Amino acid sequence: MRIDKMLANMGYGTRKEVKKLLKSGVVKVDDSIVKDPKTQVNPSEQTVTVWGEEVEYKPFIYLMMNKPPGVISATEDDFEETVVDLLEEDDQRFAPFPVGRLDKDTEGLLLLTNDGQLAHQLLSPKKHVPKTYFAIIDGEVTKADIEAFRRGVVLDDGYETKPAELVILSAGLRSEVEVTITEGKFHQVKRMFQAVGKRVVYLKRIQMGPLPLDPTLALGEYRELTEDEIEQLK
Ligand code: URA
Repeated sequence: MRIDKMLANMGYGTRKEVKKLLKSGVVKVDDSIVKDPKTQVNPSEQTVTVWGEEVEYKPFIYLMMNKPPGVISATEDDFEETVVDLLEEDDQRFAPFPVGRLDKDTEGLLLLTNDGQLAHQLLSPKKHVPKTYFAIIDGEVTKADIEAFRRGVVLDDGYETKPAELVILSAGLRSEVEVTITEGKFHQVKRMFQAVGKRVVYLKRIQMGPLPLDPTLALGEYRELTEDEIEQLK
């Protein structure tokens, strides 16, 4: 691949900025200074350095975040803090975006990547990727609700949900549940409970497809997915 493309992909700036960088003589391929942006490099066989630091070539980044409440699932916003704002600059250089959305007040597992194809696969309604949430509900969740979720409930806009699995962890004036859905309609879990006359007071995503939320991640923390986890998602 062309050296300017590689460096731009790795976040060293736009193609134009990378061209300037090359011109300034700080880029080396296997110890030779390279100034021509058209120079072909093979990142798996050659060593590229910028200012003496090796450029580790990886075109994609895959992150798992434990989203805190109060930030929005977007890449940028004029008024609100976004999940991308929580990333270190080194990671922001890859231009990752959140895979789907969690509401501002929802916590838990959020994947961020710049791999559009994988994001598309995970979000495609045809793939039915299951997403599991832990929720605290104002009201007593009953067996009838389990049955209603299994059959599908009618949301406020008339949409009938696909079968969802509801597990009651504890029932009372406040109930704790886990719910697994295979769709991603706007405010879906909250609206499903609304459809059975109950209100979600706390919501946290604990699993997406094969990946559970890493319990070692505190709210707002994130880490890269392992090779194995990325394979599991594909
Ligand atoms: N369902 C909701 O209601 N909100 C979320 O953030 C995710 C699923």
